[in-house]
Amino acid sequence: TPAARVVDLTKTYGTGDAMVRALDGVTLDLYAGEFTAVMGPSGSGKSTLMHCCAALDTADSGSVHIGEHGLTRLKDKALTRLRRDEIGFVFQSFNLVPTLTAGENIVLPLAIAGRKPDAAWYDSVIDTVNLRDRLTHKPNELSGGQQQRVAVARALVSRPTIVFADEPTGNLDSQSGAEVLDLLRRSVDEHGQTVVMVTHDPVAAAYTDRVVFLADGKVVRELRQPTRESVL
Ligand code: ADP
Ligand code: ADP
Repeated sequence: TPAARVVDLTKTYGTGDAMVRALDGVTLDLYAGEFTAVMGPSGSGKSTLMHCCAALDTADSGSVHIGEHGLTRLKDKALTRLRRDEIGFVFQSFNLVPTLTAGENIVLPLAIAGRKPDAAWYDSVIDTVNLRDRLTHKPNELSGGQQQRVAVARALVSRPTIVFADEPTGNLDSQSGAEVLDLLRRSVDEHGQTVVMVTHDPVAAAYTDRVVFLADGKVVRELRQPTRESVL
């Protein structure tokens, strides 16, 4: 079974003349243990797809399953639990809490639920993101690349079924971006994590196993074992 299954998803914004069909019948399986890139022109629906898949937004019709769980069938409480336990999300703008340390940010989603991470898993996440000596620093004491690695650690810490990342390297220089991409790649290779990443960057896409191309809210093309050249 796929880690996530999207069937005939549609979403429109606005009404009348101002209506925009952001998703127009997207059907897509996201396979466990794969790193998938979503590419396409600006406005093609990539962010909307990520938000609907991650239960940050609701579609108009169609379905999203994360593992066994159908998002549309879940009530608020179950949805909150699913977001916390089964889904990780990495934003382009990091979205860390500025008053908390890196370590506190990483465990925040679990702390809110009154839980602690599994100790061995937490250790392996901290090793993977290579942040052990930065855990007591606040976000403004960290570089952009380090802040995004904190955000990736926060997304991984509950050992989610799937991690969604919306242009995670969009605000980073190429060196820091490469570190974040390498980190996402290793979370797939070493921990069997499933990762889906929106990107505009052919270099970033070349880190993945599969690229899905959107245009005008539809899946228009798909590619396995992408290279910088083949995604253009
Ligand atoms: P992408 O991530 O590929 O740039 P988006 O999913 O952000 O595409 O947007 C898809 C389309 O939906 C665009 O035409 C965009 O302007 C529109 N859109 C996205 N979010 C909203 C919103 N909150 N209100 C109105 N239109 C929106
Ligand atoms: P991306 O960088 O992924 O393309 P955008 O810059 O298009 O994202 O959108 C950033 C945010 O603004 C998203 O949350 C999206 O829903 C919202 N948004 C995008 N287009 C519109 C729009 N036309 N009207 C209102 N909100 C929008």
